[in-house]
Amino acid sequence: MRDLKAAIRTVPNFPKPGVQYRDITTLLADPEALAESVKRLAAPYRDAGLTAVAGIDARGFIFGTAVAIELGVGFIPVRKAGKLPFETLEQDYALEYGRDTLQIHADAADAGDKVLLVDDLIATGGTAGAAVSLLRRTGCEVVGAAFLVDLPDLGGADLIKAMDVPVTSLVAFE
Ligand code: IMP
Repeated sequence: MRDLKAAIRTVPNFPKPGVQYRDITTLLADPEALAESVKRLAAPYRDAGLTAVAGIDARGFIFGTAVAIELGVGFIPVRKAGKLPFETLEQDYALEYGRDTLQIHADAADAGDKVLLVDDLIATGGTAGAAVSLLRRTGCEVVGAAFLVDLPDLGGADLIKAMDVPVTSLVAFE
């Protein structure tokens, strides 16, 4: 098994002084690490009866689409505001400084759907929490949330578990 953590580059002081940015582009460029990441993200959900994978704009699109193909289901893009052309649902969420908005198409899922949420990284959980709330407004069941990287000190995974969504991740940076 590959050491996926070793394939992720840490860039100090990005995007501002004091932040250790976990840069997954080095993992994306490594074909073995990329393929293994997708297989390991998908593995816990092979028998979950999923009907779709949802990925968060933008790096969640990379892993989410690959996981959807791996599991033989379709993909739902959870987008930043103003990008989707049809009728949308939207959800505000808090950033470290300020707020942002996520949107999905109103017909992206419905009460019959079982959806796995995928993103590259969970930090405070604000982004993933907004995506879970948004998906639930379609009536679908969010059966899990899968992340390549968890930053456990920031509490995001606990926040999503408190929303009754099981969380899986492949790599943790303490
Ligand atoms: P949260 O809302 O605080 O959990 O932040 C998670 C979101 O911010 C995800 O969509 C990540 O892509 C992005 N993010 C936060 N920190 C990092 C990082 O160190 N590397 C890559 N993405 C990050």
